[in-house]
Amino acid sequence: MSTEVTKPANFIRNIIDADLASGKHQSVQTRFPPEPNGFLHVGHAKSICINFGFAQDYQGQCNLRFDDTNPAKEETAYAKAIAADVEWLGFEWSGEIRHAADYFDQLYHFAEELIQKGLAYVDQLSADEMRAYRGTLVEPGKNSPFRDRPVEENLSLFRQMKAGDFEDGAMALRAKIDMASPNMNMRDPVIYRIKRQHHIRTGDKWCIYPTYDFTHCISDAIEGVTHSLCTLEFEDHRPLYDWVLDNISIECHPQQIEFSRLNLEHTITSKRKLNQLVVGNYVEGWDDPRMPTISGMRRRGFPAAAIRDFVLRTGVTKKVHTVEMSLLENSVRENLGENAPRAMAVLRPLKITITNYPGDKVEELNAPNHPQDESMGSRSIYFTKEIYIDQADFRESANKKYKRLVTGKSVRLRNAYVITCDEAIKDAEGNIIELHCSYDPDTLGKNPEGYKPKGVIHWVSAAQSKKAKVRLYDRLFNTPNPGAAEDFLTTINPDSLEILEDARVEMSLADAKPEDVFQFEREGYFCADRYEHKDGQLVFNRCVTLRDSWAKIEAKGSA
Ligand code: ATP
Ligand code: MG
Repeated sequence: MSTEVTKPANFIRNIIDADLASGKHQSVQTRFPPEPNGFLHVGHAKSICINFGFAQDYQGQCNLRFDDTNPAKEETAYAKAIAADVEWLGFEWSGEIRHAADYFDQLYHFAEELIQKGLAYVDQLSADEMRAYRGTLVEPGKNSPFRDRPVEENLSLFRQMKAGDFEDGAMALRAKIDMASPNMNMRDPVIYRIKRQHHIRTGDKWCIYPTYDFTHCISDAIEGVTHSLCTLEFEDHRPLYDWVLDNISIECHPQQIEFSRLNLEHTITSKRKLNQLVVGNYVEGWDDPRMPTISGMRRRGFPAAAIRDFVLRTGVTKKVHTVEMSLLENSVRENLGENAPRAMAVLRPLKITITNYPGDKVEELNAPNHPQDESMGSRSIYFTKEIYIDQADFRESANKKYKRLVTGKSVRLRNAYVITCDEAIKDAEGNIIELHCSYDPDTLGKNPEGYKPKGVIHWVSAAQSKKAKVRLYDRLFNTPNPGAAEDFLTTINPDSLEILEDARVEMSLADAKPEDVFQFEREGYFCADRYEHKDGQLVFNRCVTLRDSWAKIEAKGSA
């Protein structure tokens, strides 16, 4: 890849370049700060690529930090999955994994500092009262009657809060900023609340917990972050981010920079909604191959490099927009077109008996693994008297446009001979159950004499093939913007999964390892399932079709 492609100009790169040029910073330190309350999705992939990507581009460092200030929701399983996703995407965090909880002692100390400076107070308004006092977007808030407590009283109450002397919610520590600020985040935000909750990392040590806004900026500063990159919804929080750091004794003051979220059509990028899909059994788990989670895309067979490429193509801007699913799928196709070895698989088998082929003969043929890349080598495939083709590749009669097998006509079997269909055998109900064909022995690697086959179709030997389970995945939602629907669950595509239990795959695929991806010729790209594919039970997931079939449907729909 050229440097132009890997390092496109964008507003964040301009800021970093200027900071390095002016000597404001000598190096770049970023962080990726997920909350461990769900699996990462394609939107997070963007944030990961941006944070780790800038660190990489400038030989800087990027931390992985779990924002675990909300003890009720965090789970170790999520944290593990998140770390695995970041690694799989191809990034390495600097040093140990960090946790906001590692800084609870320091955060507490800074809270006391604010109190001592007269910049924080213990409030005893109830949650409802606090809301009423807060005002609205068009009306200023009112000062709490507890706002002007003396410093000593605040300090002693805060220490009592910490010691567990008060009920949950009875009091809160608030920053003393400005109840009339046009920015609601600056109207004396709560920075500590009482909450008796066990925390995975700190156990029962704390019964008060800092809020996200107070924690995030200080954690960034403690870690020496230079550029704190986040999504646009934090723009209105930036004044608070800066206020906290300006008013405590800490040297480092990272610059918060916001960029627009990645939104993808036909899917959902909200952990809360994705969780609803999992809990409601609409999918088989967070890593179901239909999920837009990183682990779902991995299980589907999307290469990490294709996801990185896709994210790069979406750019880094402040413009809110939604990208088409086809952009992601095209990155996947492009990558796999180049890298996936070819193989033959018959998804809906129709048996053919080659009447003029010896019954006991097994002929070893050679097939290239990639039509454009000889270095990918070749493999053996086996020709026998009984073979399978796909049901869709035969018609009793058809017009000229049908470039497959028709009764009385001939077709080339990919990497093998030309055959002619002599007869379709039917059952009592008239269903075609088998074809009788003859092969032309003089057509291996050369054109037949005196006639022209209609096209090329794929096939596998009946005896020299393996049974496989193949799962065809389609988009999980029918509408481009399921998130905008009143109930997004009603927009689920009922046909997002089709399972074919009796597909047949060529012999070489018996050696496929979990997560290996192949192009099944003429069918699409397929990935050996990460968990279920094993010896004696071959399971392939369709990553993506060869062409964008939705483009056609959508064009028709809008015509
Ligand atoms: P969700 O809304 O899905 O729960 P979140 O923003 O609450 O996501 P976090 O775990 O807090 O999830 O996110 C970690 C980082 O990922 C944050 O810096 C956040 O800005 C970023 N991020 C989340 N969603 C997207 C997205 N769609 N596009 C880009 N970055 C995102
Ligand atoms: Mg969040």
